Amino acid sequence: MSVRAVESFAEGKWHAPTGDVQEVRSAVTGEVVAETGSDGLDFAAMLAFARARGGALRKLTFHERAAILKALAQAIMARKEELYDLSFASGATRADSWIDIEGGAGTLFAYSSKGRRELPNQRLLIDGDAEILGKTGTFIGQHVYTSLQGAAVHINAFNFPIWGMLEKLGPALLAGVPAIVKPAQATGYIAEAAFRIMVESGVLPDGALQLVSGSAGDLLDHLTAQDVVAFTGSARTAMLLQRHPVIAREAVRFTAERDSLNASILGSDAEPGSPEFDLFVKEVVREMTVKAGQKCTAIRRALVPAGLVDAVQDAISSRLAKVTVGDPRAEGVRMGALASREQLDDVRGRVRELAKSSSIVFGDPDTVEAIGEHVANGAFMAPVLLRTDTPWDNDNVHEIEAFGPVSTLIPYNDIDDAIALANQGKGSLALSVMTHDPAVVQEVVLQAGAWHGRILFLDRDCAGESTGHGSPLPVLVHGSPGRAGGGEEMGGIRGVKHYMQRTALQGSPALLTKAIRQQLPGAPMDESAEHPFRLYFEEIEPGRGIATGARTVTLEDIEHFAHFTGDTFYAHMDEEAASKSPIFGGRVAHGYLILSFAAGLFVDPAPGPVLANYGLERLRFVKPIKPGDAMKATLTAKSKSLKTPEMGEVSWAIAVTNQNDELVATYDLLTMNAVRGSLTT
Ligand code: NAP
Repeated sequence: MSVRAVESFAEGKWHAPTGDVQEVRSAVTGEVVAETGSDGLDFAAMLAFARARGGALRKLTFHERAAILKALAQAIMARKEELYDLSFASGATRADSWIDIEGGAGTLFAYSSKGRRELPNQRLLIDGDAEILGKTGTFIGQHVYTSLQGAAVHINAFNFPIWGMLEKLGPALLAGVPAIVKPAQATGYIAEAAFRIMVESGVLPDGALQLVSGSAGDLLDHLTAQDVVAFTGSARTAMLLQRHPVIAREAVRFTAERDSLNASILGSDAEPGSPEFDLFVKEVVREMTVKAGQKCTAIRRALVPAGLVDAVQDAISSRLAKVTVGDPRAEGVRMGALASREQLDDVRGRVRELAKSSSIVFGDPDTVEAIGEHVANGAFMAPVLLRTDTPWDNDNVHEIEAFGPVSTLIPYNDIDDAIALANQGKGSLALSVMTHDPAVVQEVVLQAGAWHGRILFLDRDCAGESTGHGSPLPVLVHGSPGRAGGGEEMGGIRGVKHYMQRTALQGSPALLTKAIRQQLPGAPMDESAEHPFRLYFEEIEPGRGIATGARTVTLEDIEHFAHFTGDTFYAHMDEEAASKSPIFGGRVAHGYLILSFAAGLFVDPAPGPVLANYGLERLRFVKPIKPGDAMKATLTAKSKSLKTPEMGEVSWAIAVTNQNDELVATYDLLTMNAVRGSLTT
């Protein structure tokens, strides 16, 4: 393999490493495979470039940014084999790299799809309902999110160079914030290759992405309050950066994802031979060996009922005995190498520390039979299982993270003891519990929830579809309090909001409606002559609506509706029973009748731009309609969102009132409306 000069991408240009260049060696053969170095980069200029040019990203709508994410993911998938080839040198097997490469692209796909489905096709995000602040409703408040105007600085760990980059880029780019990515140098050549594919795809606006292949230099010295730092790596580096004077002075948003002593609990209901016992054993072994245990979510502490420790130790050991270690390209190899000889030394050192208060019951950190040619200088290590029988007198097991194929068996007495031991990790990314007992689940949720970012309850019912203990998912929160850094990433649209500012707007409903393009309560209705159902998607503005005439609801209507639908609930049919109801005080119309009559009042029937009724949201029946009451409705365009080039969803606020103008029912009606020119007739 030739030595790859790992380039940076700054201010729209590629820069080869110069000056103080760092050599990166293959984790498999020990040969130099890459050179990195960021000497000569002007970090202040890079940040200024991101702020100035990155504005192009802010000008796009969420849907346009979502389309970019999809195109980036497609570009990576189209050239994934180049990335697989390159990744072997980091010690990763093909299965390990699948998580990194295809898991990374999958995260972008997921953010793209969430962006299109859950965010509006505009540039700001409305947060919650309006707050009426004045007595007559002329002064209201509305929270909104807008994109930060700085750069997202992403400092990543070595273990998943592609996934680690993309799981941060998905939310940042969707939020409209340009990013400067600084991968860990040990695997930066893989991140650079994936980054290059994204740049070469040509879909990114100028300034949206920059890459630092080398040290971060004085990058952090030039941060402002509009920038965000998202860091993944060791607690040591995180603390160093958190105390950076500029980060403190400017109150720069800083998220840290750092080491985590994750636990897995075998429920006391899970006897040997039960599905949950087998799931526990498989999951512990999997977490020890995938990516040679270099996973932030890996199970470091395996908590087992005291009476089952020997059985679990035997079962895990016999599975570990089958794990073959070696060159990830060689036939039959199941576990590859650690990322570097330095990592190997580090992990061995930590196992020695752990072994001061626990015993090694499987494996030898200093001896391994690695399969393959030219592997003598590789960073290989056999899986090591430790055991402590005195976990409450053993701080090491709850504090030392050996970032490799290492886990410790820990006995517990009862579920309260197990939870307290799990919480001794003082904040973990993932906790799993293998149990089929709902009482255990309830205790764990209440007592452990506050210490763990994600809790997996794995049992026979969900095992077939479970994504496993160690898989962070784009739709779920990744992060945890305390030791794991106190940060939070992903979690669907929650992760996007980390790159946006929430602002409370105050003003009149009319003005704020125009600013945020969503009809707010109290804003005037525009009742132009043409019925709003005659308007094409692009012609509908918030506020456009109609007020209908009245229709009197008779007892015959109610009885007819009851017999026609089969809904003969006493409140509609039995005067005596209904008169005793504390809510109705006599017979009333069905809620569904009110909805149907309202539609009869506001629908414009002829074929046209309204293609379909898409559903109702936020429906509330506020006051009953009694026989003889006259109901009427208003329909007002509230907001809209383009779904395809041909059609978009329109949300209409409906208010049904009675003859005294009292509110009877309120809801949002969704219609699918055609874009002009898209209908063939
Ligand atoms: P690390 O040594 O702390 O490095 C992490 C990143 O910080 C690298 O990009 C590194 O760059 C950079 N860095 C180091 N010193 C810096 C400084 N003074 N200024 C700016 N950047 C600096 O951690 P690592 O060894 O790569 O990662 C292993 C650790 O990460 C493990 O403890 C693991 O648990 C944790 N981890 C956590 C998560 C999570 O999501 N919570 C995920 C993966 C890993 P250089 O390469 O240039 O030094």
